Amino acid sequence: MFVRMTSRAIHIGQMCEKKLRVLLDMDQVLADFELGFFQEYRKKFPDYPYIEMQDRVGFFVKDQYEKMFSYIPNIGNAVAKIYKTKKFFLNLPEIEGAVDAAKMLAKMEGVDVFICTSPIEKYKYCLAEKYEWVDKHLGPEWVGRIILTKDKTMANGHLLIDDKVDITGAIERPSWEHVVFSANHNMKTDIGKRRRLDNWTNGDWKELIEDFKMRI
Ligand SMILES: [Mg+2]
Repeated sequence: MFVRMTSRAIHIGQMCEKKLRVLLDMDQVLADFELGFFQEYRKKFPDYPYIEMQDRVGFFVKDQYEKMFSYIPNIGNAVAKIYKTKKFFLNLPEIEGAVDAAKMLAKMEGVDVFICTSPIEKYKYCLAEKYEWVDKHLGPEWVGRIILTKDKTMANGHLLIDDKVDITGAIERPSWEHVVFSANHNMKTDIGKRRRLDNWTNGDWKELIEDFKMRI
């Protein structure tokens, strides 16, 4: 009887405990899409013009290439070919410090971590490879934390760390607060009142999380 009451008490205690739900975007927050793209593009199209990584502006790499190199008829297709290719997503390098930080974050008391990621439209390889990437870099226990959606406003959380500046969808006021993860492509973009997280290496993320934990 005593044991049963104790376990029930613990169970209720767990239900009442409020946890900070952190949603981590994948591309350019955990996996380095821009670096992976740049390297593959240079390898596949060595004679084509290219944009240095520090000169990337705007979220969609294809848009900037089409704008800058409009005199090359198929430049958009060449760009898209890179990330539609098998193993592109699987072979993306890690963003420096991201995997260690994510693992530490998941171990923090009062925090639940999920990966919230949008597959590309040509999903054939991208979908499975995102799962494989998470399995390989973070571990199989992380696979169950993946939320795949084109509409991140539908995901429920307190905090979304994402490099995309404009995240819109069906829900006008999502549950999460968007913290913009810095990337070359968004450094010149006005992010309004939103906060930035510049990297995973200088420890700022821990303060950010503690701050959010106090506010929920
Ligand atoms: Mg991203």
